[in-house]
Amino acid sequence: MAGKVYIVGAGPGAADLLTLRAAALLRTATIVLHDDLVPAEILELCPPSAQIVNVGKRCGRHSRSQEQINALMVWHAREPQAQTIVRLKSGDPAVFGRLGEELDALRRAGVEFEIVPGVTAASAAAASAKITLTDRRAASALVVVTAHNSRNEPLSKAMLGPARPTYAVYMPGPDYAGTAKGLVESGHEPATPCAVVSNAGRADEGVRYLTLGELASVKGIPAPALLIVGEVAAEHPPQRHQDLLSEISSEVREPYYHDKFPIHPALG
Ligand code: SAH
Repeated sequence: MAGKVYIVGAGPGAADLLTLRAAALLRTATIVLHDDLVPAEILELCPPSAQIVNVGKRCGRHSRSQEQINALMVWHAREPQAQTIVRLKSGDPAVFGRLGEELDALRRAGVEFEIVPGVTAASAAAASAKITLTDRRAASALVVVTAHNSRNEPLSKAMLGPARPTYAVYMPGPDYAGTAKGLVESGHEPATPCAVVSNAGRADEGVRYLTLGELASVKGIPAPALLIVGEVAAEHPPQRHQDLLSEISSEVREPYYHDKFPIHPALG
């Protein structure tokens, strides 16, 4: 067996949110099989000699089936001159990336593989919306869920109650009304705060704060988007800036800075 398959997370779509390990693998890749959401600036890291194949299958566009993608990975890995085969998937490959089916195929074929994690959309969206997914004052659980599951099951009422979970909803559109209805039917109040984050982590990112009730009539949200539902998504009202130093009590005013850095007089 000549080739090894690296299943690599590309992050949310900004090249500088790619891990160093992912970038190093792309620079030495001989074959790259990538999804639609992976932007050109990341693919530009590949050497000119690399064969780059878009195996994406977005929104009904005719493209390769999952079985074809699995077969392609195995076929390339078995080529006698195969070396570094990168299967590049958006975000983290293990989060709603059909990774399970691809790993089954590689295991069945006896192909060596390694997984390189990436920044998942929920993390990037929380950063864009300046939200703490598990702010201890508002949530002690995080439910990662898709609005489009393969069995067409409704969003379930997972661990509501004392855990006060934040929901990170992948693929919430384009039927936002349906997603909002599913969440309300599963026990969320229509007044629950939400943030919809489009293109998280990219230059064209956009954030909208609203309630679950308002989500039902929302229009014109660009894809890809991630929906964050829960108290943590409440928009913070503008606050008066306070003098941080005046809040530091005398007990913590120990000289904890390293000698070579200047020490603020209030801390010295
Ligand atoms: N493996 C990916 C998710 C793939 S499913 C990950 O870990 O992020 C595709 C869904 O991810 C999209 O429909 C959208 O809900 C979400 N998504 C991916 N990239 C995104 C981005 N930059 N901003 C917002 N949502 C994104």
